[in-house]
Amino acid sequence: QPYRILIEAMSEGALTLSREGTVLYCNSAFAKMIGGRLEKVIGSSLSDAVVPADGAKLESLLAQGCYAAARAELTVRRATGGTVPTYVSTQPLHGGDGDRICAVVTDLTEVDAARQAQLRLAASVETSGAAILSTTPEGVVLSWNRGAERLLGHSASEIIGRLILDTIPEERGDGFLHLLERVRAGEPAENFEMVQVRKDGSRIDVVLTLSPIRDGQGNVFAASVIARDNTARKRAHRRLQSVLESAPDAIVVVNQEGGVVLVNAQAESLFGYRREQMIGHPLSVLMPRYFDEFFGGWWQKDPHQRLPGSRHEASAVRADGYEFPVEISVGAMEAEEGTLLCGSMRDISERLAFQKALREKNAQLQAALQAKDRFLATMSHELRTPLTAIIGFVGLLLMKISGPLSELQVQQLEWVRSSSRHLLALISDLLDLSRIESGKTELQREPISCAEALEETVRELAPLAQQKHLEVTVAAPETPVVLHSDRRFLRQILTNLVSNAVKFTDQGSIRLSCCQDGDGGPVCITVADTGIGIRAEDLSRLFGEFCRVQSPSGDYREGTGLGLHVSQKLAVLLGGRIMVESEFGKGSTFTLTLPAGAAAAE
Ligand code: ADP
Repeated sequence: QPYRILIEAMSEGALTLSREGTVLYCNSAFAKMIGGRLEKVIGSSLSDAVVPADGAKLESLLAQGCYAAARAELTVRRATGGTVPTYVSTQPLHGGDGDRICAVVTDLTEVDAARQAQLRLAASVETSGAAILSTTPEGVVLSWNRGAERLLGHSASEIIGRLILDTIPEERGDGFLHLLERVRAGEPAENFEMVQVRKDGSRIDVVLTLSPIRDGQGNVFAASVIARDNTARKRAHRRLQSVLESAPDAIVVVNQEGGVVLVNAQAESLFGYRREQMIGHPLSVLMPRYFDEFFGGWWQKDPHQRLPGSRHEASAVRADGYEFPVEISVGAMEAEEGTLLCGSMRDISERLAFQKALREKNAQLQAALQAKDRFLATMSHELRTPLTAIIGFVGLLLMKISGPLSELQVQQLEWVRSSSRHLLALISDLLDLSRIESGKTELQREPISCAEALEETVRELAPLAQQKHLEVTVAAPETPVVLHSDRRFLRQILTNLVSNAVKFTDQGSIRLSCCQDGDGGPVCITVADTGIGIRAEDLSRLFGEFCRVQSPSGDYREGTGLGLHVSQKLAVLLGGRIMVESEFGKGSTFTLTLPAGAAAAE
């Protein structure tokens, strides 16, 4: 009875069999295993329960089991359908007189599942494209799949039992041992770039992932190593690197966390760090403020938003701690490891310093210009008043009201008068010029009859022309030409052109004319003379400041060299321009073109 209780408590099936295999006794665990009722199983033949394929195995087990311990794997049929893999071990009963056999049957279903999983795993490891191997914590190779054989050339039988370090080049040995050390401490080492030596001695770029393998107690008893071919990625990397190197700016490529992954030589010289001192470190070392702004700020909140792209200013810090301004533009690029941010930047300290200097110079210049304006405004009165007095009193003297004058005195007074007039003209021209250049001239537009303006000018200068016996004519078209312009400035230009014509013509005539190009089109006013003319090579500089051209006879004609310069500036102010044509020795034609209407003038 105690044995019976003990046998019923077993999870394995327990039975006694006759030499022929009849079940003489069994526990309920066995009845449950084959899905029959206890009473029915007792008395049945075990061969009925075993699948036909295992019949022979059962027979030899029974034959052997009568005299000695025996074991076999048998598949039994369940009465309810299906089969169960079992492990049967037998012992002869009663000291082995060959009559009775005692058997223990273990259900292998669960054990089998584990074994199958192992087989499947082994198969997938074997067929994996990656090199998968395992080593002892010290690095002695324990297993080596076909991927490893393909990648490194050694077959499993050649390498198992050797050190994995044998496949690492000497100079990278320390780095690899460091990885193994990490694994021994229970830490995985993921995606580590490494170089390995193949069986034929050639080298190959790989990416290694090492993980600890632990036993039931959690102790690391082995390391798994996965090696992936990194050649293509490295090549792409090198290609990208060479593109970066050819860029004129410093380039720093960072990952989404702001870790530097790539830099070019320009970045090395900009920041004063060696490449390896930057790669793998956070961007905050190079650009602390920008890093906070960029990664701590909006990029972190929404990495999908548009990048700033175009150039903007930021500050950077060199290895020696010196902070300097840079101009940076950021772009995103898709890479295997996710989105990378590519910042290209240049030092703009010099440019900013230059801009500052320029601003300061501009301010100085502005101040100087204002001082000049102030000076001219005050001096115009101070200079003109005494000059007018001098000219006036010299005139009175020459009229001999105060008494008779000798011929020499008359001549000398004439010189005083002419010089004073010249000085007055010069001062007036300079004042006009400074007014125009300071932009303080205000236009007062009004309708002006072109013919009238010409007549008035001629009337004013007629005495001078008569003195030189010059014929002056005005030709205006029948339909009156009306200009919408500033009368004062137009008259100033015309006076200048006509007085030049008188001054530089010794005989012949001066013809003034005006015409309009269509209704509302530009108006052309022409002053043509038969004077000394201008050499072709002098024409281009005629409108420059203080330009005076040598006359053919070399005689002196009064003038300041500012008249045409001021006239051209006024013409431009009125929306037009002056052009000149001339034949040296025969005469010159000056043409003033102006827009007719108010709108055109605007
Ligand atoms: P200014 O007449 O006071 O010398 P302008 O600026 O009016 O100054 O003229 C510049 C120069 O252009 C003159 O000195 C002269 O040599 C030349 N010039 C101007 N108008 C004529 C002209 N009608 N015929 C020949 N030369 C001229």
